[in-house]
Amino acid sequence: VRLEDHTRRKSLYVPVDEQSARGTLNAESEVIATGIEGLIGDTPLIKLKSLSEAAGCEILVKCEYLNGAGNSPKDRVALSMINHAEEEGLLVPDRGDTIYEGTVGSTGISLAAVCRARGYKAYICMPNDQATEKSDLLLKLGATVERVRPASIVDQDQFVNLARRRAREHTDDPDRPGRGFFADQFENTANYLAHQNSTGPEIYAQTNGRLDVFVAGAGTGGTISGVALALKPLLPEMKVILADPQGSGLYNKIKYGVMFSSTEAEGTRRRHQVDSIVEGIGINRVTRNFEAGMHLIDDAVKVTDQQAMMMARWLVEKEGLFVGASSAVNCVAAASVARQMVKEGKRDARVVTVLCDSGTRHLSKFWKEAGDVGGADAEFTLDEMLKAEK
Ligand code: PMP
Repeated sequence: VRLEDHTRRKSLYVPVDEQSARGTLNAESEVIATGIEGLIGDTPLIKLKSLSEAAGCEILVKCEYLNGAGNSPKDRVALSMINHAEEEGLLVPDRGDTIYEGTVGSTGISLAAVCRARGYKAYICMPNDQATEKSDLLLKLGATVERVRPASIVDQDQFVNLARRRAREHTDDPDRPGRGFFADQFENTANYLAHQNSTGPEIYAQTNGRLDVFVAGAGTGGTISGVALALKPLLPEMKVILADPQGSGLYNKIKYGVMFSSTEAEGTRRRHQVDSIVEGIGINRVTRNFEAGMHLIDDAVKVTDQQAMMMARWLVEKEGLFVGASSAVNCVAAASVARQMVKEGKRDARVVTVLCDSGTRHLSKFWKEAGDVGGADAEFTLDEMLKAEK
């Protein structure tokens, strides 16, 4: 953890008299990172005042959208996967290698940015029902984008399967320079290791080890597993809670040990698609990254689209924070858990969750729906929000 850098960066804003400032200057006091990597990690942790007050205990959020390469926690993951592949000799800069990935957006954006900086090309396969802001940005970042119809994981043209195939086609083609590397964020354990080695330790250092609950949704499961693996050995009493959007199967998996407790017909339908306007979290299978920390997850909270939209509006109106859908889901679950802790008499409890990306990534989809929820001033109480159905 480079926490020292973090606090020093803050001190830049404290006025100091020139004499004493000069006195502290020496080669070691320089804080200069090289390139885009210097923008990844060491994100701020802030307290949400209005939500903490409404819930009755502290709710803190790790501002992962402030990672400065692709503006999401996936910056950490992209860097980790690329570093790991370079160590294994699977990727060699400036050889003509291309990184292939199946992603709903965030990971692709982080990979595309880090690829440019490291001398690789990026080829991104994504479902065509995702917000177009993300595919537009990918193209501007110089990635090749292949958008495909949403399909089940057993379909060979499903976006993840397609990325794997495209990587193999590249490597097998003697006329193409370099190799194809399939990053595989769902199964590549360099994903959760990024969070175990950076996000988790940062949260521990920033809170001085004082937190009672960590709440997060799962897209690949990298965040929740990695943070749980980092923090549980240090804080055995701390609870890890999954925030799960409607239509995702993970809630049932954590609560009851099975993905589908509903009818077989409904189960089959749901296995193909998470039925929610929330992008980035919610899945209907156990990935290797989710499995890595699944045994450390204590409970799950289901969050409806309506609740997520109300939270997104709340965060704008009362905190000035314009966040994406998965961040809103995380905050609903965090507020719900905080409420529960207070009911149990734990008024000094501290709940930590994650703000994953900005609302600007979701203007054409989630925010189109959420824009008017709650009227001009988002006039509703936390209790009304927590009770809101689909
Ligand atoms: N929020 C957004 C916007 C995402 O794209 C993702 C990852 N797909 C997540 C949250 C979830 O993170 P993880 O993959 O670590 O479970």
